[in-house]
Amino acid sequence: MTPHDIRASFLKYFADQDHKVLPSAPVVPEGDPTLLFTNAGMNQFKDMLLGNETRDYKRATTVQKCVRAGGKHNDLDEVGKDGRHLTFFEMLGNWSFGDYYKRKSIEWAWDYLLNVLKLDPERLYITNYKDDDEAAAIWRDEIGIAPEHMLRLGDIEKGDEENFWSMGPTGPCGPCTEIHYDSHPEYGPFEFVEGYDDERVVEIWNLVFMEYNRDEDGELHPLPMKSVDTGLGLDRVAMIKAGRDSVFQTELFTPIIETTLGLLKASNSELFANVKTDENGHLEDREAFYALEDFTGFSVIADHVRTVTFALCDGAKFSNEGRGYVLRRILRRAVRFGRNLGFEGPFLHKVSAVVVSEYSDIYPELAAVGKEAAELIRLEEERFFRNIDRGIELFETAANAAIAEKRSELGGEEVFQLHATFGFPPDLTELMAEEKGLSIDWKAYEQLWQTHQETSRGKDVYADTAGVGDWVTILDEDDSVFVGYETLSATASITR
Ligand code: ATP
Ligand code: MG
Ligand code: MG
Ligand code: MG
Repeated sequence: MTPHDIRASFLKYFADQDHKVLPSAPVVPEGDPTLLFTNAGMNQFKDMLLGNETRDYKRATTVQKCVRAGGKHNDLDEVGKDGRHLTFFEMLGNWSFGDYYKRKSIEWAWDYLLNVLKLDPERLYITNYKDDDEAAAIWRDEIGIAPEHMLRLGDIEKGDEENFWSMGPTGPCGPCTEIHYDSHPEYGPFEFVEGYDDERVVEIWNLVFMEYNRDEDGELHPLPMKSVDTGLGLDRVAMIKAGRDSVFQTELFTPIIETTLGLLKASNSELFANVKTDENGHLEDREAFYALEDFTGFSVIADHVRTVTFALCDGAKFSNEGRGYVLRRILRRAVRFGRNLGFEGPFLHKVSAVVVSEYSDIYPELAAVGKEAAELIRLEEERFFRNIDRGIELFETAANAAIAEKRSELGGEEVFQLHATFGFPPDLTELMAEEKGLSIDWKAYEQLWQTHQETSRGKDVYADTAGVGDWVTILDEDDSVFVGYETLSATASITR
């Protein structure tokens, strides 16, 4: 099954159960100020689930473009560390709005997994929320799941939200049951207990039983009707169907990664000279390529370029605050990984073109504005490339000094200089520090930023207050907007 077969089979399966097939909503949410990016299939149905709106259907199914970077569901820091988390992914979903509930949704999920995806039931594991005896009984008595394949998790009273899903700090929420897949039965018997190895047994599908609305004070109020909201990760399904351990080793990513590799080789024939490709740029030995240490860099770039491309095509813009700042941080991370692989100038906009061509059939909006998006990416990378080498040099000097002096932290001063002078978002510096086994003196950084903010209020915020000399304008007019302490400390706190 190709990724596209998976998408199509899912929509067909639920259409056959009288679900209305609806298009994905944009990744930039329309009219929901509580949300940075669309983070789940249910976002476009929030008002239906809350009972504030009714439409002419009670069952729906979609393939939803999702971005999880910033906000409650933030996976930016996971990308490249495991092969499971992306900042952009597609979520297959089915909904009941006050119609069917636990029994039907569990039965259909099981049927789809076994009879359409043809997964081996011996390899599936089920989690349920602590109190959800009803769902657990359906799995046990009606589906026939063995007790050693089931586990209860979560306890919201103690702040443990496992198996209790919510879209954000407020809004619709409820207990959920999750389906997980054993990628390595050959490793021997699996002990499904709290704290189990979720690299081996990977979560694929979440069935949420929406029954509460959480208010600003964190109180739960029962919803007027009980609904179902499910999310099955397309990229993860593609991964397990391909028998791989990483989503980046699937067909979803191959064209993006091969394009990146081709651009590198074209820019300098010495780069990756040992990695053989055919006349169409296809890898001759994928396994050998996946085993390279540099595969992580290719993976991160591939994730980030999808996120940035989809977000720009849905109307987002790079900026110094909010959503646009999240995108800027993602782009700069990608550029920095690209620089490490050997790119000396803008490349990401060219990779973006492959995202557009690969996905235009499914998401026509990409074809319509893909060229404009690529141009925005090119301008944005050009800007960062102007300073990146000097920033990396400053970082290397500081990090090596810290290591030589047996300090475990990179000073706040350097993080600040990198940020204010060279445009390295603090979370990027943190990532670079992490690669060297260093943490960051956040307190010192925040103090410097605060002082900077106070002294530069109303003036050009990016003047050379850090005193590194040789100041370069990395930011054009639209960037000289004042960025409040709030924005940045919020950003910094996301990274911790
Ligand atoms: P995880 O525990 O792995 O972080 P999650 O519990 O946060 O996943 P849900 O909010 O339950 O994920 O989303 C439903 C499904 O979407 C997941 O079961 C998974 O298949 C998929 N999914 C979630 N986050 C990601 C991601 N960052 N990248 C790829 N797929 C994802
Ligand atoms: Mg998660
Ligand atoms: Mg989970
Ligand atoms: Mg989940």
